[in-house]
Amino acid sequence: MIDVIIAGCGPTGLMLASELRLQGLRPVVLEQDAEPTRIVRAMGMHARSVEILEQRGLLDRFLALGTPFPLGGFFAGIRKPQPERLDTSHPYVLSLPQTITVRLLTEHVTDAGVQIRRGAEVRGVEQDEEGVSVELADGTRLRSRYLVGADGGRSTVRKMLGIAFPGDPTTVDTLLGEVELTEDHDTVIEIVNEVRKTQLRFGAMRLDDGVYRVVAPADGVARDRTVAPTLEELSRQMRATAGTDFGMHSPRWLSRFGDATRQAEHYRVGRVFLAGDAAHIHPPMGGQGLNLGVQDAFNLGWKLAATVNGWAPEGLLDTYEAERHPVAAAVLDNTRAQMQLMSLDPGAQAVRRLVARLMDFDEVSRFLTEDLTAISVRYDFGEGPELLGRRLRDIALKQGRLYGLMHRGRGLLLDQTGRLAVTGWADRVDHVVDVSEELHVPAVLLRPDGHVAWIGEDQRELTARLTTWFGAAVG
Ligand SMILES: Cc1cc2nc3c(=O)[nH]c(=O)nc-3n(C[C@H](O)[C@H](O)[C@H](O)COP(=O)(O)OP(=O)(O)OC[C@H]3O[C@@H](n4cnc5c(N)ncnc54)[C@H](O)[C@@H]3O)c2cc1C
Repeated sequence: MIDVIIAGCGPTGLMLASELRLQGLRPVVLEQDAEPTRIVRAMGMHARSVEILEQRGLLDRFLALGTPFPLGGFFAGIRKPQPERLDTSHPYVLSLPQTITVRLLTEHVTDAGVQIRRGAEVRGVEQDEEGVSVELADGTRLRSRYLVGADGGRSTVRKMLGIAFPGDPTTVDTLLGEVELTEDHDTVIEIVNEVRKTQLRFGAMRLDDGVYRVVAPADGVARDRTVAPTLEELSRQMRATAGTDFGMHSPRWLSRFGDATRQAEHYRVGRVFLAGDAAHIHPPMGGQGLNLGVQDAFNLGWKLAATVNGWAPEGLLDTYEAERHPVAAAVLDNTRAQMQLMSLDPGAQAVRRLVARLMDFDEVSRFLTEDLTAISVRYDFGEGPELLGRRLRDIALKQGRLYGLMHRGRGLLLDQTGRLAVTGWADRVDHVVDVSEELHVPAVLLRPDGHVAWIGEDQRELTARLTTWFGAAVG
């Protein structure tokens, strides 16, 4: 029997495959498309996702192909400088087309031995006490202990499980594409800046190879958003919005997206889980969707692996939904707020001006930025110091940097007292005795995803927390 089947070879499915493989599992990824898509949706990764790559020793290959940009201007497109003193050692957005992110993750998991089956569309899902049966469009049946639906916003897995997906339907469509323009660049920029004073869903951005990524409001809502617009339709909408189509021609690809905001009522039914867009969709304001999915996978991976590997404490798998559902609900909320701030309604414009002025206060700007970049996410681990439940940022230790010690995806006790022990859990938890000027507590216990599970100096308390998160002691 396969350990875990992952439906969907997008960023979420691939990050999950990477995490499961790291823990010794052999997941199989099923992807309906025969070839990777050429359509570029996300254009970058935010600080928490960058940190995750660093925690697994993967960041260098992404930095080699991406460009770090300052973090200002993300919230509702309100242009402000990057706030000072962000709580991360990666205070930038890594600009990198989603197609390249997917390619790099695919290469990584394939090298690690993960099997990706393309042209494999999941059509049917049934589960019983022992496992999950997955049926493909060609009639093939596969059996696994667990299934994760990382199959995007129209998730078949979610539908097969009958999980409700409440929220708001699309009210406006936006056209998107990569095309060549004959107009000279300065004129394009001048017109775009002028039009964007009143229409923020319009734009043309020159890419490295001279091709432009253009966006324009569609005329109404498409009955089937999977059908790509024609060049004629995009050109017509550009002219309707800006009075020109900049002489566009030779499209590399064309696409459209809506503004629906929805969240799955549950992330788990028995042996089947949802992650990424399959669990939540929202407009792309602030560039959060891909990041949210990668971070879902980072939360779920070690827990699922611990269960398959037999050491998961009771209830560990249920903490996935308990922790990640509120995080996505908050993202849906902030995208709704951003959509309001981008409305042309005079009242909304007045609120936008007010928010823009408030963002001149560094505290406000930092709060919004740490929210969008997910570095301020705090899971509810009960009463405790402010750091409890947050991820610990990459701090400098005498023996190097913290994230450099987390590549194996194990728990980690960072012990500045030298008096603590993880005996009984040493097969799952590393004990690092070291000091850091950036850590102002005696010791922290980190989960494999870097979140702080305990703070203190008392061995009995630590032992209780080790049991909570890492199961029974051995030996
Ligand atoms: C215009 C636009 C701009 C965006 N910009 C950003 C941004 O800047 N930053 C950001 O973080 N996010 C952004 N997003 C959102 C981001 O693209 C998504 O959140 C992200 O792709 C979600 O990843 P995923 O792996 O969960 O799903 P997907 O990327 O949708 O991957 C799902 C995969 O599952 C496959 N699949 C579907 N059904 C089946 C099936 N039945 N069987 C097998 N395989 C199946 C699909 O073919 C697909 O490959 C943007 C989105 C849009 C539309």
